[in-house]
Amino acid sequence: MRKISFIISLFYAGLTWAQAPTMPNYHANDRFEQLGTALPTPNTYRTASGAPGKDYWQQRADYDIKVELDEANNKIIGTETITYFNQSPDALPYVWIQLDQNLFAKNSPGPITRTGDLGNQTTMTSLSTITDMNYSNADYGYNIQAVKDAKTGKPLRYTINQTMMRIDLPQPILPKQTYSFSIDWNYRIVEVAKGGRRTGFEVFKDGNNVYEIAQFYPRLCVYDDVTGWQHKQYYSQGEFALNFGNFKLAITVPDDHVLGATGELQNAAQVLTPTQLKNFEKAKTSEKVVVISSQEEREKAEKGKPSGKKTWIFKADNVRDVAFATSRKYIWDGKMQEVAGKKVLCMSFYPKEGNPLWGKYSTEVVAHTVKTYSKFSVDYPYPVAISCHGPIGGMEYPMLSFNGGRPEADGTYSEATKYGMIGVIIHEVGHNFFPMIINNDERQWMWMDEGLNTFMQYLTEKEWDKDYPTRRGEPQMIVDYMKQDPKNLVPIMTMSDNLINAGASAYAKPATALNILRETVMGRELFDYAFKEYSRRWAFKSPTPADLFRTLEDASGVDLDWFWKGWFYGVEPVDQDLVEVEWFALDTQNPDITKANAKKEAEDKRNTVARQRDKDFIKESVVEKNPDMKDFYNSYDPYKVTDADKKKYETYLASLTPDERKLVESGLNFYTLKVKNKGGLPMPVIVKMQFEDGTDSVARFPAEIWRLNDQQVSKVITTKKKVVQWTLDPFREIADIDEESNSFPRQPTKPTRFQLFKGGGFQRGTNPMREAQQAQQPKAGQQGGAKN
Ligand SMILES: [Zn+2]
Repeated sequence: MRKISFIISLFYAGLTWAQAPTMPNYHANDRFEQLGTALPTPNTYRTASGAPGKDYWQQRADYDIKVELDEANNKIIGTETITYFNQSPDALPYVWIQLDQNLFAKNSPGPITRTGDLGNQTTMTSLSTITDMNYSNADYGYNIQAVKDAKTGKPLRYTINQTMMRIDLPQPILPKQTYSFSIDWNYRIVEVAKGGRRTGFEVFKDGNNVYEIAQFYPRLCVYDDVTGWQHKQYYSQGEFALNFGNFKLAITVPDDHVLGATGELQNAAQVLTPTQLKNFEKAKTSEKVVVISSQEEREKAEKGKPSGKKTWIFKADNVRDVAFATSRKYIWDGKMQEVAGKKVLCMSFYPKEGNPLWGKYSTEVVAHTVKTYSKFSVDYPYPVAISCHGPIGGMEYPMLSFNGGRPEADGTYSEATKYGMIGVIIHEVGHNFFPMIINNDERQWMWMDEGLNTFMQYLTEKEWDKDYPTRRGEPQMIVDYMKQDPKNLVPIMTMSDNLINAGASAYAKPATALNILRETVMGRELFDYAFKEYSRRWAFKSPTPADLFRTLEDASGVDLDWFWKGWFYGVEPVDQDLVEVEWFALDTQNPDITKANAKKEAEDKRNTVARQRDKDFIKESVVEKNPDMKDFYNSYDPYKVTDADKKKYETYLASLTPDERKLVESGLNFYTLKVKNKGGLPMPVIVKMQFEDGTDSVARFPAEIWRLNDQQVSKVITTKKKVVQWTLDPFREIADIDEESNSFPRQPTKPTRFQLFKGGGFQRGTNPMREAQQAQQPKAGQQGGAKN
């Protein structure tokens, strides 16, 4: 009984500023049910804990590739022998091969299904993107010259279906058997400025080209336990699904070229000049960047002509792909970065047009990336890591990447160019880990590599510079995307080619989600361990989304099904609304206090405007003029503490236990916060309390506070000090799309995020470096930088 009276004697002392909404009729909360059938049933290939199962298998394909660049005709001519290891439990009567270069062939599936409008203004590139006008009448696809059994030399029957080719085998390849076959081919290389995608060449003013060559050889499709043959057409947005294997790669180019490729150079002594060779050997152990082929040397080559050809030979083990970049313009530098006691040779290849940015930053950024990603995932396993500069804005391959970011002709550059370049190098070198080592099917799930890699890029950028103007990862940066009409949004769990605004839906949103898991939902210790465990489990294997979701829960002990549902399967935004706060104080029942309070309240209520004016208006009332008109009630004080009151209070105190008495005398404040989940995506509730005395404190409640009612919750908070201001999500960590509903009492409108963003950070397109140089150096035409 005392307990009840105890609760009853809570004294409601607050005013509410907003009207309390009526309680919705909520039902069983689907947002907190387990993912259940949305995930595939675990089996002996992939376990319920998210690890590879005891019967996990994957195919292997080894390649022996010989290609030649015909510079005069911008052609690639190649031959390869593929040895296919059937490690599946199935007999395979045919194999499927990816012919990615057929993206640029007539009637390729990408361009003919691409849609778009013509505005009043358009660029050549966007015109060619939506019309495929450059390629539709020219043959830039593969010319398959021969497909043969490697042992007998007999031709094999093959059928080309757009970007895919089926090769029919003389007999099925049985489980545990290998089969070798060869393909001869050639194709014309696309000029990137005319609509190339991920590969192609650039023509410079001096008449020389830079070639970035990828998807240049017919590649085995993946056959696995998840999809069977992954032979979904190459539409160009969805990238690749590939097998690991060992590669031998021989590339023949004009003898004045400098070349970088996936793998370890096998014949340096034959292809390098004595000076280059000396520098190359020095770079392998140097902690400082060593120039292997200088700008001076390259400028001479630009003006000269090749005297013949050279064949560069590379070897790359346990990679899923190879690519290369080559030019007589290529400056080449390198330095060593140690990872777990192993030396990694980090290198850059760039034309002089990339300087001064490239010589200063590229190789240093490669080394920083390899080191930082190794810390958060797995140790970088390859002997080299390379960044090449050319026409491709950013593209990744094992050990090698193509990266953009070029200064103006006068050598100055904007902040956006600088950080864009460093960011893209981190990103593309970072792809070595996702998907080149942790090898997801990119054709199906773009976010599995792009999202994870963008998250790692965010961590790595901050370790490069704590103030790095990072574009993706901070929750507040995803708000503009998430507040759009949900009709225009697709879930992260959307197949790569069907993604709308992939930059947000497959890069920024998953990267932000992972950052929120790390900082707000799981905490760094649990998250970092689980993320590393995922990387370790799936290094040199092929995980699916379920393997990631399950592993992060398995290794951390945190149930995240609600999080995967909200962030990965849904498009709802986060929008918490602090509807109202009610203030309660414990009624002490001490008549000295309660009666005094009641008296003050009654006096306040009587102090109406009429009474205030009557003071002067009514000169003398009847009872003032004639005291005979007064009686007992003119002097009666109902708020006077009587002996009976005192007695009652003593009886009450005597009935309390010592603990209860302590609480009654504590003077604690009780607040009921009513928080509404307006956006739909349930998230932890983080609330900052600003106290009367100017200090503050933050309370954190996990997302599970929504599990019984995902529309609105009440949460009681107890404080010693009086709270004067409440703020939800004070550090902007949950991507709440409407900050104005986060304060109580409501605060006046703040500048919008757009204005805040414009006010700080760099603005794209401006070049303060040039302005500063021009101010110092008024004579135009004498600026330093690249010497064209
Ligand atoms: Zn990427």
